Amino acid sequence: MSMTASTTFSIPQLRADLRGRVIVSGDADYDEARTVMSGEIDRRPAVIARVADAGDVARVVGLARETGIELAVRSGGHSAAGHCTTDGGIVIDLRDMKALEIDVEGRTCWAETGLTAAEVTTAAAAHGLAIGFGDTGSVGIGGITLGGGVGFLVRKHGLTIDSLLAADVVTADGELLRVDAASHPDLFWAIRGGGGNFGVATRFQYRLHELDGIVGGMLVLPATAETVAGFIATSEAAPEELSTIANVMNCPPMPFLPEEVHGQLVILGMLAYAGDSEAGKRAIAPFRALATPLADMVKPMPYPEIYPPEDDSYHPTAVALTMFVDGVDDAVAASIMEHLERSDASMRVAQLRVLGGAMARVPDDATAFAHRSSRIMVNVAAFYEGEADRPARQAWVEEFAAALRQGDAGAYVNFLGDEGEARIRDAYPGETWKRLAAIKARYDPTNLFRLNQNIPPAPAG
Ligand SMILES: Cc1cc2nc3c(=O)[nH]c(=O)nc-3n(C[C@H](O)[C@H](O)[C@H](O)COP(=O)(O)OP(=O)(O)OC[C@H]3O[C@@H](n4cnc5c(N)ncnc54)[C@H](O)[C@@H]3O)c2cc1C
Repeated sequence: MSMTASTTFSIPQLRADLRGRVIVSGDADYDEARTVMSGEIDRRPAVIARVADAGDVARVVGLARETGIELAVRSGGHSAAGHCTTDGGIVIDLRDMKALEIDVEGRTCWAETGLTAAEVTTAAAAHGLAIGFGDTGSVGIGGITLGGGVGFLVRKHGLTIDSLLAADVVTADGELLRVDAASHPDLFWAIRGGGGNFGVATRFQYRLHELDGIVGGMLVLPATAETVAGFIATSEAAPEELSTIANVMNCPPMPFLPEEVHGQLVILGMLAYAGDSEAGKRAIAPFRALATPLADMVKPMPYPEIYPPEDDSYHPTAVALTMFVDGVDDAVAASIMEHLERSDASMRVAQLRVLGGAMARVPDDATAFAHRSSRIMVNVAAFYEGEADRPARQAWVEEFAAALRQGDAGAYVNFLGDEGEARIRDAYPGETWKRLAAIKARYDPTNLFRLNQNIPPAPAG
């Protein structure tokens, strides 16, 4: 088999050259291997290279460079834009690279980038250690780390990248670089927020934090303008040990909730207090007092329990927009309620995350994540059923986001879809963009790594 690119290559040769597996159309597991999280994305790569080590990664990077075949990089496969796959190109699929070495004494670990957030979290917790990723266990550590990482420990320990000590990165020329504060510091700055633009990270070294467990879990409250504004005000006033996520949404048919609640607008709150359990209960009490909870599953628990088991066959189709706002007062909360009430999408949500704490103490220019002082992250989303349903749902999220827009024009790169360059610039405003483009020109001058929220290399000179 040969590729329609400037140079051809042979699959048997690639199979002989790689330690990992090479999957092509017609192989028994091709369809399973090409499936990604988003139900919108249905692409047929020419080759999926289930790489086994950094040497394999370098070989596939070299092949892409020499042949011009489109190159996608996949860790957990959760990219909303579908950047982790390609029609007719080659995928570096890291999922078989799951080595994890934990230095319990030194409180660090080296984690290969095929691991998921839940896998690293579970392994670290066995030693009373933790690092913050996002709200979903199946997200790959590759994508979430390179974009920043906003999760349940964000106020206590900052973004995921704030615990990143080093990375091994295969660059466009096929070299494997150790990247940290001392070695390639420019690249170390760029990969903390700049996404997959600069090379393939094969493993990360993280600082781990002592964490015996959390007081946390799900708290479901009836949603009204008052409870939504109250939830946010309470989150802002809480000690930074507590990070919360408020999903204001139509209630899914969860078996532990009475049937009459299904479909009603609720706050599906996720709370995590990383600290002493008595203090945690005190911090959570004001949330419980906002209204009579419809469900209260907040309790002392091992941290990994914040990631419940997931259904691998769940691939919803959704439209979404991400933004930051400065505050959610009664008027903003009323607008959120009004938009959610107006939609009849099978799932519609405004997800609100109060930021601050450790995340905000890092200067804006210390890493390529430039939104340290942003106060609240908001994601609005709706499911759609079939292509004909999509435009109306898209119009709804656009109108919703426009109604919520305040002074903060930034965006978090990991929640961007395929939204064009202006939105990527929102993720990397001003000097951040210039600095990233200059570093891109140094490490990837031909833009080999372009299937991502792309930062084109700065023109020479
Ligand atoms: C259900 C869901 C919940 C989410 N929740 C959160 C959350 O709470 N907090 C948060 O911060 N984010 C969250 N995200 C966003 C998530 O961080 C991004 O989608 C992230 O890019 C996914 O990483 P991945 O490795 O799973 O995805 P992939 O699709 O495999 O990777 C995304 C892109 O990242 C790059 N990339 C990935 N791995 C590497 C690597 N090793 N080397 C170089 N480039 C690489 C590539 O460009 C790739 O296309 C969520 C996403 C979903 C779908």
